Amino acid sequence: MARLELRRLRKRYSGSTDVLHDIDLSIDDGEMIVVVGPSGCGKSTLLRMVAGLEAISSGELVIDGECVNDQEPAERDIAMVFQNYALYPHMSVFDNLAYSLKNRGTPKAEIAQRVEATAQLLDIGALLERKPRQLSGGQRQRVAMGRAVIRKPRVFLFDEPLSNLDASLRVQMRQEIRALQQRLNITSLYVTHDQTEAMTMADRLVVMNAGRVEQVGTPMALFRKP
Ligand code: ADP
Ligand code: ADP
Repeated sequence: MARLELRRLRKRYSGSTDVLHDIDLSIDDGEMIVVVGPSGCGKSTLLRMVAGLEAISSGELVIDGECVNDQEPAERDIAMVFQNYALYPHMSVFDNLAYSLKNRGTPKAEIAQRVEATAQLLDIGALLERKPRQLSGGQRQRVAMGRAVIRKPRVFLFDEPLSNLDASLRVQMRQEIRALQQRLNITSLYVTHDQTEAMTMADRLVVMNAGRVEQVGTPMALFRKP
């Protein structure tokens, strides 16, 4: 759990004009914020800045009162889930889940225990010996979620995680992701261009356009607007 604050965040890629202008946003402990807006409005850039994958041009990113602008991605304790899953194709599901813990020198017994607990949580316990290519789309998405969850991050970032799934699976997975996020109570920033997904998953919606936040509010409040 964590409180995440974006204070006048600005992004300018080298040789271009600003693609994000003074983004101000506070995300409460355990809150799920969904960011919607047309392609090119800056949603991915925003997530990548929070993750530490893009430099912040100006402004401050604050987690639990501490400015993390200068922290490396690994130090920020943030997990990101992508639409293409980013699983290691040559590794088993077990090794995909264990990877980040191994990297941090977690003892073997603890790794085994956490992989098992995570697999149970995501209902992928029967798949641990498989390679990603031997999984269905929904199963891959669960493994990707498991990889994010196993580190017990302070913040979850989701970049259009369901856009490669067919329609019925998308509905099922968005319910599963939302249930898991609420159960673990992890502060989350979720980007999608799917209005229904946004409406059904968000505690609050952020509507972006051309690098600016245009509206912030609960789905009910924004939906009621004429
Ligand atoms: P969205 O995720 O909403 O589609 P992006 O964050 O991907 O938007 O892009 C926002 C703007 O920044 C777009 O105009 C895009 O062309 C530009 N942009 C994205 N990545 C780069 C980059 N690496 N270098 C320069 N411009 C970029
Ligand atoms: P989807 O159409 O949802 O992507 P698939 O048709 O790929 O699903 O897979 C259906 C089921 O078959 C899943 O339970 C998946 O785990 C299993 N499966 C798919 N490919 C393989 C494989 N190469 N080896 C073992 N099981 C597989």
